[in-house]
Amino acid sequence: MKRLISLVVALMMFCGASALSEALPAETLFTPGTYEAEAQGLLSSVKVQITVSEDEITDVSIDATGETPTLGGAAAEMLAGAILNAQTPNVDSMSGATVTSKAIIAAATEALEAAGADIAVLDEFRRDTDGAETPKEDKTVDTEIVIIGAGGAGMTAAIMAKQAGKDFVILEKMPYVGGNTTKATGGMNASETHYQKEQGIEDSSALFAADTMKGGHALNDPKLVAMLADSSSDAIDWLDTIGADLPKISFSGGASVNRIHAPADGSGVGNYLVDRFSAKLAELGVEVMLNTKATELLVDGEGKICGVKAEGPDANYTFNCKAVILATGGFGANEDMYTQFRPDLKGTVTTNAPGATGDGIVMAQALGADLVDIEQIQLHPTVEQSTSMLITESVRGDGAILVNQKGERFTNELLTRDAVSAAELAQEGQYAYILFDQNLRDHLKAIEKYVKAELTVQADTIEGLAEQLGIDPAVLAKTLADWNEIVKNQRDTQFGRTTGMNADLTTPPYYAIKIAPGIHHTMGGVKIDTAAQVINTEGKPIPGLFAAGEVTGGVHGGNRLGGNAVADIVIFGRIAAESAIEYVGK
Ligand code: ADP
Repeated sequence: MKRLISLVVALMMFCGASALSEALPAETLFTPGTYEAEAQGLLSSVKVQITVSEDEITDVSIDATGETPTLGGAAAEMLAGAILNAQTPNVDSMSGATVTSKAIIAAATEALEAAGADIAVLDEFRRDTDGAETPKEDKTVDTEIVIIGAGGAGMTAAIMAKQAGKDFVILEKMPYVGGNTTKATGGMNASETHYQKEQGIEDSSALFAADTMKGGHALNDPKLVAMLADSSSDAIDWLDTIGADLPKISFSGGASVNRIHAPADGSGVGNYLVDRFSAKLAELGVEVMLNTKATELLVDGEGKICGVKAEGPDANYTFNCKAVILATGGFGANEDMYTQFRPDLKGTVTTNAPGATGDGIVMAQALGADLVDIEQIQLHPTVEQSTSMLITESVRGDGAILVNQKGERFTNELLTRDAVSAAELAQEGQYAYILFDQNLRDHLKAIEKYVKAELTVQADTIEGLAEQLGIDPAVLAKTLADWNEIVKNQRDTQFGRTTGMNADLTTPPYYAIKIAPGIHHTMGGVKIDTAAQVINTEGKPIPGLFAAGEVTGGVHGGNRLGGNAVADIVIFGRIAAESAIEYVGK
C-alpha cells in the first residue's frame, strides 16, 4: 500500500485527479474476497458484508434490521448504494438515522481495511456521482388524488383511498415512511371503545372531548374536538380491521379515565402503526413514492385544486389531480420556522423526525389558507438530550417519578406536558432524572430501547444510583422512601398525584435517565373544518384541498394530550380521505 501511495503522490504531480483514478494500479487496491464487520448502532449491532475484486467494491450488503425497522432498513439500503457508487465507506449519513449510519460506515471501514484497503486512498479517488448525474426529466401524471406525506395521517388516507378504489399517488420526501408518527410511544386516545367495555372501563365521548378541551386550555376548536371524540371508537374498530389492534388500555396525563389504547405487547404505538400501515399498503399494492418532495399546489382559474408539483429522485413531476390531501406533518424540525413564531424556543432540542419542516403549511398558505394557533408548540418533558430520544409518558404513567439534581421530587409527574416541562425548567440546571425500578422495566417493553441505547444509569441500591448521579444518597433514599409510602397510602400529600401509583419502586436494580424538555408537537397549523377541508383566510373551504394530522391546527388548542396525536392522524386521516373520495366522485 505504501508503494501505491507514493505512486499516487508521484502521479499527482503530473496529472489531475480524474486522470489519476484511471491511472491507478488496480491490482493494489484490495485483496479479492468477501469481508464482514459489525458495529454498534442505536439499538443493535449493524452487520456489513462487502465483496471486492482487485480494483473495485463489487457488492455491499447491510443488515440493520435490529434498529427501528423502517429507519434501519432504509439506511441500510441507502448507504449500501452510496458506498457502492462512491467506492469508499465515507458517504453521507441518512437524515434521521445518524447513529445507524455512523455504525454502518464504521463497519464498512473495518471490512474494507480487512480487505487491505487504504481508506484515505479510497476517499481520494471517490467516484464523484454528483457530476455524473443526468438532468432530471419532466413527467406529467394524471391521477384523482395526491396524498402528500407518508406519516400516520397520509398512510391512513392512502389505505382508505385504495379500499375505495380511487386512483391516487402518495408522495414522501424522505427515503422512508413514518415521519413523526414513528416517534409516538404512548398510544391512541379513544372513548366508548369495545376494548374499554370489555375491560369494564366507563368512558364517554363527551368526557373525552371535555378532557381534550381542558388539556388544550379551551383554545381548541370545539367542533373538531367533538368530531375527534365521537369518531374515536369507529377508528379503533377500523384499526382492528387492518390488523392494527390497540387493546392495551392505560392512563395518560390529562385523561379522566383510562383511555389510551396501545399495542398488546406494550411496544411503541408509532412504530407499530407504521409497520401495520406499511404492510397493509403493500398488501393492497400501493407503492409510496419515496424521495419525492411536493413543492407547490396548483389551482385552476376558479381557485380549485388541479395539481401538485414535486421533485423526485429521477424526475420533476407535475401531477394533474382533482384533490390533494395534505399530510405533511408539523414544523418542529424547522428551527427557522418555529423561532419565527416562538423566538424563546431557539436552541431547544427537538424530538421530531427531520421531515417535519412545515412544507404543507407553506404550500397551503400560498393558496390563502388560514392558520390557527401557530405559536402553540408543545414541549415534551422527558427527552434525553444527547440523542433527542423521547422517554414515553407510560414510564411515568406506570409509576416512575421525577427528581431534580438535589434528589427531590418537584412536581406531580403526571400533570400535562406543558406544566411538567415548566416545572423542570424551574429546577437548577433546567433538567431532571426520571427514576424507576426493575419491576417497572419488566412491565414496559419500551424501556428496553432506552437500556439498549445506553441512556440508563443503573445500580442495585438507591444510594448507589444517587452516587452515580452526583446526588446526595441520603436525600434520594428519603425521596424514594417517601414515595413508596405515598403509593402504599395512595395519597400524594406532596404534589397531589393521583395516578400511576399502582406499584411502588422497591425492586432493584434502580434506573435513572437524565431528561429535559424538547420540542415535540406543533399544535397549530392550517385551519380545517370537521370534513378536513382546508379553510382560507376568508373562512371558505379551498375546493379540493384537504388536510389531516399535525399539519392542521385546532384539534389540540394550547396543549396536546398524550394519545391525541395518534387519535388525530387516524381519525382525521380517515375523514380527509372520505371527503376527498366524495369530492372527486362528484
Ligand atoms: P402526521 O403525524 O400528521 O401523519 P408525520 O410527521 O408522521 O405527520 O408525517 C408527515 C410526513 O410527511 C413525513 O414523513 C414527512 O417527511 C412528509 N413530508 C413533509 N413534507 C413533505 C413534502 N413537501 N413532500 C412529501 N412529503 C413530505
